Amino acid sequence: MEYKLTFNHYQQGLEQGKFLGLKCNACDSVIFPPAAVCRECGSTDLTPTELSGKGAIRTFTVIRVAPEGRKPPYIVAMAELDEGPWALGNLVDMAPEQADMGLLGKRVTLGSHVVKGDTYATDDTHVLTFTLKAP
Ligand SMILES: [Zn+2]
Repeated sequence: MEYKLTFNHYQQGLEQGKFLGLKCNACDSVIFPPAAVCRECGSTDLTPTELSGKGAIRTFTVIRVAPEGRKPPYIVAMAELDEGPWALGNLVDMAPEQADMGLLGKRVTLGSHVVKGDTYATDDTHVLTFTLKAP
């Protein structure tokens, strides 16, 4: 199977502030983060596309017991991106103790930060972040 957008290309995009996803040629869905098949229809006929990096928070939680190497508390949110897909990331410009239901629907801008490798993932990885204030 040929991957149209590899994990490394996705990671390089994040490093450069680009949000690379895939557009399904069968049903027009946008897949982000990229996957081997369309999440809506299962098609593998996908074309790389760059997303706007804008969306709205749909749900969130405050992590108080963190996995190895992470320092709690911090906010994990899901945002519905303007192109359609929902993405998971860390909301980084709000104190966790201030997070409440008022966050739902708030506009966010995507970014990324580096999470250090640990026992289970040896390499440092760019993960998505959300900020309420436009950069
Ligand atoms: Zn599709």
